[in-house]
Amino acid sequence: MSYVDQVLASVKEKNAHEPEFLQTTTEVLNSLRGVLERHPEYQKAKLLERLVEPERIVSFRVPWVDDKGEYQINRGYRVQFNSAIGPYKGGLRFHPSVNQGILKFLGFEQIFKNSLTGLPIGGGKGGSDFDPKGKSDDEVMRFCQSFMTELYRHIGPDCDVPAGDIGVGGREIGYLYGQYKRITGEYSGVLTGKGLTYGGSLARTQATGYGVVYLANEILTHKGKSFQGQKVVVSGSGNVAIYAAEKAISLGATVIAMCDSNGYIYDKDGVDISVIQDIKEVRRARIKEYIKARPSAEYHEGFQGIWSVPCDIVLPCATQNEIDLDAAKSLLKNGCWMVCEGANMPSTLEAMDAFIEAGILFVPSKAANAGGVAVSALEMSQNSLRLSWSFEDVDQRLQNIMKDIYKSMSSAAAEYGKTPEDYVSGANVAAFLKVANAMMAQGLV
Ligand code: GLU
Repeated sequence: MSYVDQVLASVKEKNAHEPEFLQTTTEVLNSLRGVLERHPEYQKAKLLERLVEPERIVSFRVPWVDDKGEYQINRGYRVQFNSAIGPYKGGLRFHPSVNQGILKFLGFEQIFKNSLTGLPIGGGKGGSDFDPKGKSDDEVMRFCQSFMTELYRHIGPDCDVPAGDIGVGGREIGYLYGQYKRITGEYSGVLTGKGLTYGGSLARTQATGYGVVYLANEILTHKGKSFQGQKVVVSGSGNVAIYAAEKAISLGATVIAMCDSNGYIYDKDGVDISVIQDIKEVRRARIKEYIKARPSAEYHEGFQGIWSVPCDIVLPCATQNEIDLDAAKSLLKNGCWMVCEGANMPSTLEAMDAFIEAGILFVPSKAANAGGVAVSALEMSQNSLRLSWSFEDVDQRLQNIMKDIYKSMSSAAAEYGKTPEDYVSGANVAAFLKVANAMMAQGLV
């Protein structure tokens, strides 16, 4: 049995109840076979066995009181996965689906994504099964304060720097930051995605979505194509989806469909992003409200229907495994020729294989959505310098980082991939080599 197969078998045995973690480890390790053949020293150093085991997982109780005066108990976590190239870095997710397996998958992905940014950040992830949907601001605040009252002892600006993810945006980061400062008495860059008045970075809000489109655009440019005139489907309607759609539109695309977990909207004239922003960011309402502002658009119950909308390019920006094999088949049948992933691991392994088999352009999330965490790292730099860079400066750095990701991903694809456009292998190999090198240099830790 090959080294990769041995490690995968043991990962499956030890983590049988964590399907998403098994999915990401299977995808990543499978694409490292060529590298491991060339580097027998990695096997001797048990590098893969170490890589798949988080350095530390903290799990804790989060008690809080709701508006009715009832006590509520949630579970909180922080997975500190790998610190070979920098302090743990990665978001916090608040969603009822959160469990240790989901956070291990996200933390594992984060190691490689953060490596691809070229910046000194290790991989981590955290969160809670708390559902911010339908909660009042006060309830969210009380929850965040309780969550941080435990988390603060495990994080720090040079040790672990959390940020947002699904269910954690500017409001939540503000409450978490306030409580961290109150407990420790320190004004440090311990969280990113902060508000602009208290240490946040310009362009962080836009960074993940813009980065997705910058990378897609870089690939299109190398193929003599562009976003101009393309029909684009953007799934989701949160932070990543909104700014990916906005940037695609500014480059001449028509975004014809978006969704939330209840259903999708189809607007043949092109989605008006300011309406989506008002519904989602200001009113925190459901996407079906869109047709009140744009009566010519359609709303359909059930988000899965979005995959039957014919389009050129798909930017899946909602959540993991939102595209299954049937969705992939329907997209391909309707002529979709590019998928650039904004959410973390939005395609199942089967869907990914179908896209690759069909030979369309497929850009995996750990490369495509790295712009968010990259600008988080720039926020850390600005906090350390006690400086604040202009929007244009940060945006330019983001564009350069996405171009560099394209270069490292495509050169690794050319060397190790099944084809020169095998960006899945390219991203995994390029990201792995940097982390592996650092781990080897640091000895058995
Ligand atoms: N949650 C985002 C991600 O998946 C951002 C993490 C960060 O900024 O630390 O990469």
